[in-house]
Amino acid sequence: MSIHYFSEVFRAMDDPYLKARHEDIQHLGNKIFNAWRGNNDAAKALAGIDGPVVLVGEMVSVSDIAAIPVEYLAGIVCFAGSGLSHTGVLANAMGVPAVMGVGDFCSLQGGEQIIVDGDDGRIIIQPSKAVVREFNKLITKQQALSEKLSELHDQPATTMDGHRVRLFTNTGLLADITPGLKNGAEGVGLYRTEIPFMIRDSFPTEDEQVNVYQQVFAAYAGKPVYIRTLDIGGDKQLPYFPITNEENPALGWRGIRFSLDNVQLIMTQVRAMIRSAEDAGDLHILLPMISSTNELDTFIKLLDDACAQLSSEGFAIRRPKVGVMVEVPAAISQLPFWAKKLDFISIGSNDLSQYLLALDRNNSRVADRYDHLHPAVLHEINRIVKVARAHDLALSLCGEMASDTAAVILLVGMGVRTLSMSAAKLPSIKWAIRSLSVAKAEAVLQQALTLENVSEIRALLAKNIAELEFSELVH
Ligand code: PEP
Ligand code: MG
Repeated sequence: MSIHYFSEVFRAMDDPYLKARHEDIQHLGNKIFNAWRGNNDAAKALAGIDGPVVLVGEMVSVSDIAAIPVEYLAGIVCFAGSGLSHTGVLANAMGVPAVMGVGDFCSLQGGEQIIVDGDDGRIIIQPSKAVVREFNKLITKQQALSEKLSELHDQPATTMDGHRVRLFTNTGLLADITPGLKNGAEGVGLYRTEIPFMIRDSFPTEDEQVNVYQQVFAAYAGKPVYIRTLDIGGDKQLPYFPITNEENPALGWRGIRFSLDNVQLIMTQVRAMIRSAEDAGDLHILLPMISSTNELDTFIKLLDDACAQLSSEGFAIRRPKVGVMVEVPAAISQLPFWAKKLDFISIGSNDLSQYLLALDRNNSRVADRYDHLHPAVLHEINRIVKVARAHDLALSLCGEMASDTAAVILLVGMGVRTLSMSAAKLPSIKWAIRSLSVAKAEAVLQQALTLENVSEIRALLAKNIAELEFSELVH
């Protein structure tokens, strides 16, 4: 019986979650097959690639992405998912063009030439010479714009009327640490620890985690680093610990819920984070998917225990700052209760939009309805910013919204002064902030808050972006 046979058994199941596990079977089967052929790791086969490649699959896995030298990863195409799926988000963080949710097509044999147009969300298979020429011209134009933007590297993101905005980067793979620094990131606003967990075959030990996190602190020496506790579940599965049998994985055993139910796991991770910051790292611990006081209190107690343990073991540690992701809508009205216990909050606009709009961020069928500029999302984010201000709570935003120039105008208008985004988007966002005044952003925001349709909001913002200097720098 073949890998294909077992994979199809899963694909035929009624339970959507089990059905989706056919990919894991395929993945695992391929690994076993490669080992049997004497090639003991499929990842090694990918690492043998020595020229530009486009990865194509139902849902390209994080371990496949990590296995390819980043300079050769020219693009990613997934039959399923959407731009907000974690594969899409990771591609964005690495500056790799990705097109998600293209639907199944079996005609590819491998070896074809393929254009992946991440800006317009389209792919062209075996393009004509004329089309290749056009795309090469576009690439040259974009490179020229990037060079222009790189002149801003040492300039602060300060608005025309003197308000400073801090720009951080989102990372998770060691390969995407350098681009953030190269593009002038002032810190790491979101380190997604699930990524180093996902590219392994088993849970990393405390020392292995210390080794990974220390590299982040070393690269960002003296700068703030926000490390998020393990955020698995939903479309983020560990190959060695799949969470199956859930009707609604996005509402299931995810983020902090999973971690608090696995105390040894979270204790190991928290100890590793604190130890890795021992040499003056500015550690901020960020908690994903928090929705209740009980979860927060349980975590704080665990953190206290971790600090006490490490001190008694002789480590010269400092208590890290603690903050929560505001991404489950229930967290919003809880913030006044939590303010005294927290050092900061970070808005996770990807999941916050998903849960406010009840739109699955991974479902290509509803991807065109998902928009973080939906009026309901904007009004809620505005409310979060006001609550944070009233309680003197430091606030940042680390969802994909921070990479969207149109959204950034509104966020600056609301008073958001720390944004964390993919490294590749940092220069154009810096340019936009430097071309903007807070007075103007506030006026645009007031107008946007009176609109009831996302299309009207996008049109208003497009008009305002077009009026900014160098508006061609925004894609
Ligand atoms: C978010 O939800 O906005 C976020 C930043 O976290 P992730 O995309 O990893 O779920
Ligand atoms: Mg999230």
